[in-house]
Amino acid sequence: MTDRHDKQDKNDAVEPSFDGHEDRPITAGRSALMARIRSKNTQPEMIVRRALHSLGKRFRVHRTDLPGSPDIVLPRHRIVVFVHGCFWHRHPGCRLSSVPKTRVNFWTEKFELNVQRDVRKAAALQALGWRVVTVWECETRHRESLILSLEGIFHEGWRLGTAGR
Ligand SMILES: [Zn+2]
Repeated sequence: MTDRHDKQDKNDAVEPSFDGHEDRPITAGRSALMARIRSKNTQPEMIVRRALHSLGKRFRVHRTDLPGSPDIVLPRHRIVVFVHGCFWHRHPGCRLSSVPKTRVNFWTEKFELNVQRDVRKAAALQALGWRVVTVWECETRHRESLILSLEGIFHEGWRLGTAGR
């Protein structure tokens, strides 16, 4: 792998982070809800990293010196990538982003905060001249199409990459 892990010596209370073991599995038994929101090195994240690697792209991960500590940073292209879980980050129209049937207010509020936080992060990064790319968890399930869309972000005129620029 060409990526490096940044040392993380300060943890944001809102965004708990874990150690950098790349093979950390996503265990259903990890029931702490907040811990799932921003856990590092999730399986979808690893899939995206491998895909970028196969495209010959160099990147760094979890740069804490950037707003929102983006999951993947491609400095040469001035691109940051967030790999979002569809449920926690509310992928619009995705079947993985259903709302639990109990404690609806609790969930709605929590989801709202997550989405707002994502919007703020993206805005802060765009203000610094970064293009912000979001890869959804469900998009990591088909390797070929994932690689195709990742390839697309490095080409001029890619619509999401031009947002806010
Ligand atoms: Zn999705």
